[in-house]
Amino acid sequence: MTAGASETGERRHLMVEEQLVRRGIRDEDVLAAMRSVPRHLFVPAGLAPEAYADSPLPIGHGQTISQPYMVALMTSLLEVDVRSRVLEIGSGSGYQTAVLAELAGEVYSIERLVSLEEAARAALARLGYHNTHTVIGDGTQGWREEAPFDAILVAAAAPEAPPPLLEQLADGGRLVIPLGRPSRDQTLMVYERNGDSIAERSETRCRFVPLVPDKRREEGPAAVAAAPRKAAAPRPRRAPGEEVTMKTVSVGVHGRVQGVYYRASARLEGERLGLRGWAHNASDGSVALHLQGDPAAVDAMLAWCREGPPAARVSRVEVADAATDEGLSGFEVR
Ligand code: SAH
Repeated sequence: MTAGASETGERRHLMVEEQLVRRGIRDEDVLAAMRSVPRHLFVPAGLAPEAYADSPLPIGHGQTISQPYMVALMTSLLEVDVRSRVLEIGSGSGYQTAVLAELAGEVYSIERLVSLEEAARAALARLGYHNTHTVIGDGTQGWREEAPFDAILVAAAAPEAPPPLLEQLADGGRLVIPLGRPSRDQTLMVYERNGDSIAERSETRCRFVPLVPDKRREEGPAAVAAAPRKAAAPRPRRAPGEEVTMKTVSVGVHGRVQGVYYRASARLEGERLGLRGWAHNASDGSVALHLQGDPAAVDAMLAWCREGPPAARVSRVEVADAATDEGLSGFEVR
């Protein structure tokens, strides 16, 4: 074993003891899975040193890899074993998928964002999982061709349990899903099917990113299951031949914005939007950013800056025109 591997193994061991066992996760199989899956390979490279921290982390596109405790709790509530067929909604980084794949027979996972699905699939393949199946689509419809499932895990908050998911539960199967409004107090719910009846109970309070249904298929109950591959999340693009313009601004973001991964998240969002620039922690506690690029992309980034990553509380954003820096080639954390 290399020094690096034993060091990450050590950090996983600590994570399991301090964050999971101490908080009451007892299922030995779940603890073993959490000790074995290399979480640092599922976070953006710059955040690898934080991979075993007791918190969710940004993975780009305003999404997060769930806190280790939440992954362990949801997994133990599902009570899966090697015979289980599991459906996951919201693959995100693919980390939860890997934890489930350690325990279950087959894991089917749906993600609506193309680039996250691609990264998750690559990470799972690199680690050699053969029992994971990922697809791009709207998870609120479930995956009809592969139903029924012994366990369904939803990693994003919905106003109610989507009926197709309850329908796709096998007898004795369980659905674990956070219910509630975005960024508000949400409740982690467990639904269990027994014959034709479904029992429900609330487990704990929690906080997840929203489950985003595909509006086009909301109306039709006859809509097919996992959707065919769709285009990536909208990203501002210039029409061919349109005049190339550039917008450059300097931005000051105030509020609870340091120590919440604001800069690392801004870099991911800036890169996604194809911007050049940087983010820097100012000595007054604010985050200073320089943004330059396509005007629509800069505007999209400013909208992102007003929200920031999940743990940020932005109180005020100042924007001023600035001079373009031709020396910048990408988006940096400074
Ligand atoms: N368990 C994941 C959590 C990812 S966050 C991890 O630990 O990495 C939730 C994910 O749900 C996001 O990636 C988001 O894009 C996805 N999502 C939101 N609405 C969805 C929908 N209707 N169908 C499929 N995925 C959805």
